[in-house]
Amino acid sequence: LDVVRSVEPRIADAIAQELRDQRESLKLIASENYASPAVLLAMGNWLSDKYAEGTIGRRFYAGCQNVDTVEAVAVEHAKALFGAPYAYVQPHSGIDANLVAYWAILADRVEVPHLKKFSKRQVNDLSDAEWAELRAAFGNQRMLGMSLDAGGHLTHGFRPNISGKMFDQRSYGVDRATGLIDYAALRETAREFKPLVIVGGYSAYPRKVNFATMREIADEVGATFMVDMAHFAGLVAGKVFTGDFDPVPHAHIVTTTTHKSLRGPRGGAVLAQPELSDQVDRGCPMVLGGPLSHVMAAKAVAFAEARRPEFATYAQQIVTNSQALAEGLVKRGVRVVSGGTDNHLVLLDVNDGFGLTGRQAEQALLQSGVVTNRNAIPQDPNGAWYTSGIRVGTPALTSRGLGAAEMDQIADLIHTVLAATTPAAGSKAKFTLDPALADRISKQATELLAPFP
Ligand code: PLP
Repeated sequence: LDVVRSVEPRIADAIAQELRDQRESLKLIASENYASPAVLLAMGNWLSDKYAEGTIGRRFYAGCQNVDTVEAVAVEHAKALFGAPYAYVQPHSGIDANLVAYWAILADRVEVPHLKKFSKRQVNDLSDAEWAELRAAFGNQRMLGMSLDAGGHLTHGFRPNISGKMFDQRSYGVDRATGLIDYAALRETAREFKPLVIVGGYSAYPRKVNFATMREIADEVGATFMVDMAHFAGLVAGKVFTGDFDPVPHAHIVTTTTHKSLRGPRGGAVLAQPELSDQVDRGCPMVLGGPLSHVMAAKAVAFAEARRPEFATYAQQIVTNSQALAEGLVKRGVRVVSGGTDNHLVLLDVNDGFGLTGRQAEQALLQSGVVTNRNAIPQDPNGAWYTSGIRVGTPALTSRGLGAAEMDQIADLIHTVLAATTPAAGSKAKFTLDPALADRISKQATELLAPFP
């Protein structure tokens, strides 16, 4: 840090403060983790300086031999880790991985009758008129994805993301009473809507998903089945989700981030069946610029870590902890969406019983050293900005070694804060919380974390 400080002290201070904050507060954001020193060091070095557009052994720049090694090792580990026939590790983020996948699916599936199948041709070979026809055809395709309030992600065809402009999207959701995906309704919608793509996966659904059933539905309607496992990739890698619940054998294409439950560097990856691999390889330059070679190195290290037996123990513990947290909340009277969890996250309803919006609860918890994020719940009366929910996840605290007993204590801290928070009349954002109580909870959180540096 001294080297950084000699150039820009404010950045050195922000980095140091971030470390203190991450050490001393309860990091319960479901999409965050603590990457290992090996991952961080593989990322923080001079591989960052190298340009390497292209694919392994076929680059648009000279001198890419070391990047070739890095990318090939990352691909080797990704394929072995997930049992996938093909892997692409260049995406800079989850959003990029999804865009690469959407491009690959469109290029593979969209046909204009009098043109040869587009996937067999180079973009530059098409005449202007042919290209215009293809663009029109690309812009006229359908996607079926999980609704936002059921836990879907913006990149699954929603208007604030470009995927919502690329596709005509319709959503499937969860059963109102159980909070579980309604597969029968999903099938009905798929039959009627006939999407080109069905997207499985989520950001805030607390249960296992039956990917075998979803593939069956996709086959029935002739859709390509994509799964975005960004959130639960660590649970797939750690063999918590197997059989019907492992997306890799069932989906045509799988996208992920590498920094959430998988505990790698910030980034994305795509796994695919061989028939889509040529199109995914065109992710650069179709969607991406030069790959982040240093991040690919860190991905390789993270995948190698995840192949070790101790990662399976870690993944199992994530779920054990999440279930203990859910139980601790339920027994204290908090309504938890779907009544519990099968994965790394729990979705709390803070409107029911506490009369709070997600935003009020999130800020009250933050003042008390408990870092979470507000999240819509199914059929949310408060919309996507204020919301009625709080999403909590256990991947980060499990990395520090906290177990089920600590989760019960954390449930108590959360419940105490929610019960002590009073919403301001007529406001969805303002609230009152006794600062002495917030301070006491914050100290308790730091004490609880002290044995787990
Ligand atoms: N897909 C899902 C399901 C996610 O939850 C997220 C991020 O929260 C993303 C994609 C996007 O990942 P990134 O932030 O790396 O672009």
